[in-house]
Amino acid sequence: MIGENLQAITEKYPRIFKDINSDVLVVSEIPEGWINLVDNLCADLNNLMEEMDPENTTNLVVLQVKEKFGSLRFYYHIDTENNSLYQRLKEAIHRAEVNSQTVCQFTGQHGELCMHNRWLMVLCEDKRIELGATKARKELNSL
Ligand SMILES: [Zn+2]
Repeated sequence: MIGENLQAITEKYPRIFKDINSDVLVVSEIPEGWINLVDNLCADLNNLMEEMDPENTTNLVVLQVKEKFGSLRFYYHIDTENNSLYQRLKEAIHRAEVNSQTVCQFTGQHGELCMHNRWLMVLCEDKRIELGATKARKELNSL
């Protein structure tokens, strides 16, 4: 099942997301503030595949996308003979996951990892104050 924040992105990049609905019990969704981050990541992945695999033999299959412990999580597998492309795709995904930890989940502004009602989430200072959340210790934030 795909949530509404992710819907348009999966339609925009069908090559990457063709299997995302294969398990109807698995829910894929992202916070509103991360829409641009995920959109940019998917554009990068698409471009890498077009540039480095013009014959279209690479399969990048995204199975689930979600937020967990204040970080973007991409669950995927890559099927390719091209080792440098494999590395570039993995790096792009990892970089976006790390970057998500400084992007406010509500507004997309610069944020920090915070604790709100025992949930870890990335919040900008305005949203942190509005929700009454506290800054979390960095050690909690391991991928
Ligand atoms: Zn914010």
